Amino acid sequence: MTPLATVVSGPRARLFACFLRLGTQQAGPLRLHTGASLAAKNYYEVLVLGGGSGGITMAARMKRRVGAENVAVVEPSERHFYQPIWTLVGAGAKQLSSSGRPTASVIPSGVEWIKARVIELNPDKNCIHTDNGKEISYKYLIIALGIQLDYEKIKGLPEGFEHPKIGSNYSVKTVEKTWKALQDFKEGNAVFTFPNTPVKCAGAPQKIMYLSEAYFRKTGKRSKANIIFNTSLGAIFGVKKYAAALQEIIQERDLTVNYKQNLIEVRADRQEAVFENLDKPGETQVISYEMLHVTPPMSPPDVLKTSPVADAAGWVDVDKETLQHKKYPNVFGIGDCTNLPTSKTAAAVAAQSGILDRTISLVMKNQTPTKKYDGYTSCPLVTGYNRVILAEFDYNAQPLETFPFDQSKERLSMYLMKADLMPFLYWNMMLRGYWGGPAILRKLFHLGMS
Ligand SMILES: Cc1cc2nc3c(=O)[nH]c(=O)nc-3n(C[C@H](O)[C@H](O)[C@H](O)COP(=O)(O)OP(=O)(O)OC[C@H]3O[C@@H](n4cnc5c(N)ncnc54)[C@H](O)[C@@H]3O)c2cc1C
Repeated sequence: MTPLATVVSGPRARLFACFLRLGTQQAGPLRLHTGASLAAKNYYEVLVLGGGSGGITMAARMKRRVGAENVAVVEPSERHFYQPIWTLVGAGAKQLSSSGRPTASVIPSGVEWIKARVIELNPDKNCIHTDNGKEISYKYLIIALGIQLDYEKIKGLPEGFEHPKIGSNYSVKTVEKTWKALQDFKEGNAVFTFPNTPVKCAGAPQKIMYLSEAYFRKTGKRSKANIIFNTSLGAIFGVKKYAAALQEIIQERDLTVNYKQNLIEVRADRQEAVFENLDKPGETQVISYEMLHVTPPMSPPDVLKTSPVADAAGWVDVDKETLQHKKYPNVFGIGDCTNLPTSKTAAAVAAQSGILDRTISLVMKNQTPTKKYDGYTSCPLVTGYNRVILAEFDYNAQPLETFPFDQSKERLSMYLMKADLMPFLYWNMMLRGYWGGPAILRKLFHLGMS
């Protein structure tokens, strides 16, 4: 895959980016784990389900609380991915290889990696079952299983990805196809979708639209492209301040947004996408495309949907302030698999990890959890190859901004943060349990101003 030439301008900006990249690259080998355990024990004080963003972060924090030998992570994948960078991979601004590392290298040293898939949770007996026939018991359980991608709920997918002109930034298997489709684009409709389900990073389906528009402009194809965002939602973004800024960009750049349009079928051999009008069920529209970016329907992982820890919709049923399970006090949830009523992002996971750490430490001492999660989440809305609007907000969809300037403006500094600083923070601080979100920075900046 040929990456797009670096578009960040100015020697200072480049130096800063280089420094961060260097740090990111060098961080891995220092903490190589010895690999998955073959002779795992069958009891752990803290058992973590899922070794993604939330699982690894909590394993690192729990290691400090109870000692590495008392913590285990159940995770089947050989590779751990920093998914937020896939937005830039799909647009050719980053290499896919920069987004992943061996799982062995991110499991905190001394913590057991149980390389298996959880197939059953039995919280009444304090144990879980794995697909390799093991039963593992625990004193405390942290559920961090993420959100499931349901491409097959769209007729014609996932097999449609075998054809050209179609991609999806949401999966490691299809993200590079987005970049290929962008490069192959000649003229016609470039169509971007948003499904009729909860999703992770609700901004990502439209970020790739802005990047595509910028790419078409750069390569002289803009006048031949009709750019369409067909979304199941009724608004462009859930927070008014940022929605207003995005609407201006949409008008300025002549992008078409159609609301309440849900992708139900892809006829990839004919380059056609079929949408249902959610306001008039049964009414469909067929759009021919020269490029299609699919954001798939998503749902709680199957293993949770029917388990006792799930709410009626299948999400882990936790207290929205403490992250403790509502029925099982020794069970906790973090991240995309929970029913926390906030936008599902890695930034939210970072903020949740600090709260959950505190909650568990008090529960371990038979005390009542006191620290309260305010729903902090963040979405760096990439609006071009060197521009980002940094949306940060809480449970009430009210802005909760870190920096002492208007974050609804597009900024190069925020792009550098998204592209280089955040990956650095993720690999070196968050996964090691040292990053609980920007609340401290926010206080510092805002104190300085008052
Ligand atoms: C294209 C894209 C762009 C994004 N952009 C941003 C952004 O700009 N900013 C941001 O903050 N966030 C962004 N995100 C979202 C962010 O990546 C997720 O919200 C975050 O990774 C959630 O962490 P998690 O631990 O809940 O889930 P994950 O990190 O997905 O981890 C879940 C883990 O559970 C494992 N698992 C699943 N089922 C089982 C099972 N049965 N047994 C054992 N293990 C299992 C999986 O293998 C996985 O490792 C983006 C995501 C995507 C895809």
